[in-house]
Amino acid sequence: MIAITSIPAFNDNYFWLIHDNNNAIVVDPGLAEPVLYTLDHLNLELTGILVTHHHADHCGGIAELKTKYQCPVWGSSKDNIATIDRFCDDGDFIDIEELSIKIQVISVPGHTRNHLAYFLPNSQQSNNVLFCGDTLFSAGCGRLFEGTAEQMWKSLQKLMDLPDDTHIYPAHEYTLSNLEFAAHIEPDNKMVSDYLQHVSLLRKIGIPSLPSNINLEKQINPFLRIKEPAIQKIAQSNGNATKMNDSQVFATIRELKDRY
Ligand SMILES: [Zn+2]
Repeated sequence: MIAITSIPAFNDNYFWLIHDNNNAIVVDPGLAEPVLYTLDHLNLELTGILVTHHHADHCGGIAELKTKYQCPVWGSSKDNIATIDRFCDDGDFIDIEELSIKIQVISVPGHTRNHLAYFLPNSQQSNNVLFCGDTLFSAGCGRLFEGTAEQMWKSLQKLMDLPDDTHIYPAHEYTLSNLEFAAHIEPDNKMVSDYLQHVSLLRKIGIPSLPSNINLEKQINPFLRIKEPAIQKIAQSNGNATKMNDSQVFATIRELKDRY
């Protein structure tokens, strides 16, 4: 059976460690030290690194980990990260022999141009699991640094098409502030207000709000609820077009969040 352990780092990042009792791979190690400490503490060998995108808080620790463990690093060929030596793209499968798992690569541009997500389909080893970097957060989504609103909306729809029971592991603990915005956008959504209370309690005692799952996100995440009449209405009253398509609604809600 595979376990997934969070490695908190910086202010609000999580690096995710996927492991059995002997071997591990890590997603987005922005810093080597906490990963080295966790590997040592759990007595694990690092056998691979997955990178979702080129931001420093996601890849700053790769070089040191690679030097120590001599392990392969998977990521986009278009991201110009010198430490990546196994290029992958949408639809590819990554075979992690040491853990007997196959990970599917999903291209999700928007936050950055070449952002990748990694999906581990359920098996005897694990549930359906998604590592989505800075694309999908619990109750939110990543900022549009390089891509367009249309690209990001398409990427989020791809993720919404994954099985509802997919556990999602984003790279940041932004859930509480995202839920505050979600409650502002959809004040009548009781799921949002109830979940906001729940996550406030968790965070008060230092428990991560993650993983979330696709089913929950469809009910609380305004960026996955673009087709809801209440959200379309807010967008209409804040946007400049009289009739908006879904990606224009998405763009308007994203702008509101940027200014919130
Ligand atoms: Zn980022």
